[in-house]
Amino acid sequence: MHITGLRAELLRLPLPRPMLSGSSGGAGGQPVTHINLPVVFLETDAGLEGLGYAWNLLGGGRATRSVLADDMAPLLIGEDPLDHERLWRRLYRRLQSVGRHGLVIQAQAAVDLALWDLKGKAAGLPVHKLLGGMRPAAPVYGSDGGWLYMSVAEMVAQFETYLEAGMMGVKMKVGHPDPQTDIARVKGVRAALGDRIWLAVDANQQWDFAQALTAGRAFEQLGVAWLEEPLLCEDIAGHARLAAALDIPIAMGETLGSRHEFAAYLRADAADILQPDIVRVGGLTEMVKVATLGEVAGRSIAPHHMMESSIQVACGVLVDAPIEYMPWVAAAFAEPARIEAGLMYPPPGPGLGLTIPAEIVRRYRVD
Ligand code: MG
Repeated sequence: MHITGLRAELLRLPLPRPMLSGSSGGAGGQPVTHINLPVVFLETDAGLEGLGYAWNLLGGGRATRSVLADDMAPLLIGEDPLDHERLWRRLYRRLQSVGRHGLVIQAQAAVDLALWDLKGKAAGLPVHKLLGGMRPAAPVYGSDGGWLYMSVAEMVAQFETYLEAGMMGVKMKVGHPDPQTDIARVKGVRAALGDRIWLAVDANQQWDFAQALTAGRAFEQLGVAWLEEPLLCEDIAGHARLAAALDIPIAMGETLGSRHEFAAYLRADAADILQPDIVRVGGLTEMVKVATLGEVAGRSIAPHHMMESSIQVACGVLVDAPIEYMPWVAAAFAEPARIEAGLMYPPPGPGLGLTIPAEIVRRYRVD
């Protein structure tokens, strides 16, 4: 089998619910209403087509599409799409000076997902079975109901629908300039949901060390399951100091690109829970390697977003990782995510088991 063509598209989808976190807001601070979905279709001489995608919120949509079409297509056409390791290394090394993390590695992730999609289609198997078939489904926590613009009552109302659906728990945003604002909001949610509900918080890198320490100590008293991204992601030493000072687990990793950046966190003992984003880390191939790093270091894995493809890794190789329920790009796919009694199941079809109908491409396409 050989790759005969690469078609890159950019879709711009409305979010099911506007989002506002410490790190992501509109240019004037208002909630974000749309998500960019760069999509790649890899064509082959076997008649199979592979589908892969990236995502971004605040920029880089057209640039990601350009990297796919201009820089990656010439490196892929004529190659055997089953050679995902060789092709990952080839793309990474060729574009390293403009890549490593950010939109180039995200474009590479789209290609990597498309290669795995093709591999599964060629084998007639879903990707999670090719990876290892660790388990049939993964528990889900609800994550699209705790944005900074929402009141405690609005968050609780959404969280209750997640819990009634059987989800394992919920996550809310923190990261106000004054951590006392967040502590009060977490107290409010905790009081409404009860002490036994699994509740995590996410600061999206908004605090300095002193703020994060104050907030972390309060969250410990409130039984919060993890404190996510308390500090700037480049501050590995700060995360290490914080992890040593606090009992609450520090979760980290959604903005890290490649296994090498995760390895630096592990060497510094700076994170308790690793959160690779299947797109930002460089694709499924790289995410599996991060999972192995985490296992060897005795750290949990909690995949970030993109549940439609993360579920393949979660069910293929991970023993007990949760899936973050965030249906941001669900409207792109013909196959609705299957979530029953709080468990998410991978799509049954071969490869990623996902299709984007031509009508969806037409409707949401950006020129
Ligand atoms: Mg996060």
